[in-house]
Amino acid sequence: MQFTEEHEHFRESMRRLVDEEINPFVDEWEEAGIFPAHELFPKLGEVGAFGLEYDPEFGGGGADHSFTYVMAQELGRIKCAGVPMAIAVQASMATPALARFGSDELKKTYLEPTLRGEMVCSIAVSEPDAGSDVAGIRTRAVRDGDDWVINGRKMWITNGTQADWLCLLARTDDSQPGDYHGMSLIVVPTTTPGFSVGRKIEKMGNHSSDTAEIVLDDVRVPISNTVGEAGRGFQQQMAQFQDERLVGAYIAAVGARKALDRTKDYLQQRIAFGKPLLANQYLQYKLAELYADVDTVEGFLQYAADKYLAGNDVTREATVAKLKTGRLTREVADACVQFHGGMGYAEEMWVARYFRDARLASIGGGADEVMLRVITMMEGMGKK
Ligand SMILES: Cc1cc2nc3c(=O)[nH]c(=O)nc-3n(C[C@H](O)[C@H](O)[C@H](O)COP(=O)(O)OP(=O)(O)OC[C@H]3O[C@@H](n4cnc5c(N)ncnc54)[C@H](O)[C@@H]3O)c2cc1C
Repeated sequence: MQFTEEHEHFRESMRRLVDEEINPFVDEWEEAGIFPAHELFPKLGEVGAFGLEYDPEFGGGGADHSFTYVMAQELGRIKCAGVPMAIAVQASMATPALARFGSDELKKTYLEPTLRGEMVCSIAVSEPDAGSDVAGIRTRAVRDGDDWVINGRKMWITNGTQADWLCLLARTDDSQPGDYHGMSLIVVPTTTPGFSVGRKIEKMGNHSSDTAEIVLDDVRVPISNTVGEAGRGFQQQMAQFQDERLVGAYIAAVGARKALDRTKDYLQQRIAFGKPLLANQYLQYKLAELYADVDTVEGFLQYAADKYLAGNDVTREATVAKLKTGRLTREVADACVQFHGGMGYAEEMWVARYFRDARLASIGGGADEVMLRVITMMEGMGKK
């Protein structure tokens, strides 16, 4: 990837926004269990953080994937994982299918204001009884004249208590139940009668990000809210997952390096047995090994980003990136807690939050085992 002056200009605006509008408020938002998406997102919209790669005709940046990489690197500097995840949902998880396949009318009504940050959106795939097994979802949209009538429940929906609309995956054709055929992505405005937030879920980490269970009770939306062709939702969502997994990995890798840097500084200052803790070769080697792992993952991520940039299918790369970055993040977080001693276990330090937040990396957006399943199938070992 070649970075130009334009990239650096964009990086500077993102950095300023993170330093001035996000990081000073993270502790407050973590404490509150939510961040003000409707206040923050217009500021991100102003610097063009949403829809970097989308068509300028519908408010996108018309840029290439290298700008998304830069954006993710700056999001990785945020002092928690909840806020970057919420931003990434809007930028790269709930909107790619709409930008690629949505009608002009849908894009004008929902995508444009979302890219300006005036609307907040969510991706609604997971359900109480189906997360890893996306083909097992039960939410149904039944055609009634020119409308879909939607019934079901969605679980773990990021931005779910604040969203103006959901990109919702529903079963629209029951002729092949349990199969990946017959699903559609549908734009569901949250003001529609029958939509409700069942509950806000209390979580181990990512406290500043609101996560909701959503109830859909005879929610009626026009058929024209279908993203692209009805019946193609599963495939569209699988493609959308590639953006989600890559961007999540870019953000997490930056966070891992930053955590190692901060731990190194702490060990340099902390004196035990008459010398800085960092003088212990065991600690030096352990950190060196983890830096080497972060280097390796970053190299792979750049390779994946380049491949994406060249227009290739990156299912394999996004899967490996998600798996390896998630596992490394957890390992780094565990070492950081260990090397901070008691302070690593104290709420007043950044480490405890990082440890809790890092745990999600191997679960959200597809668990490690689901990534292994994809690789298994690609290697011709498992049944499709
Ligand atoms: C904080 C948070 C935010 C989230 N945000 C969103 C969101 O915005 N939108 C959304 O749609 N979803 C969201 N999710 C849901 C997330 O994607 C799912 O939790 C994840 O895909 C796992 O699904 P599940 O929780 O139903 O676990 P299950 O499917 O019940 O799986 C449980 C565990 O079983 C194992 N497992 C599963 N399948 C296999 C297999 N085939 N082989 C071996 N082991 C297996 C894995 O270890 C897995 O973790 C979020 C989750 C969290 C925790």
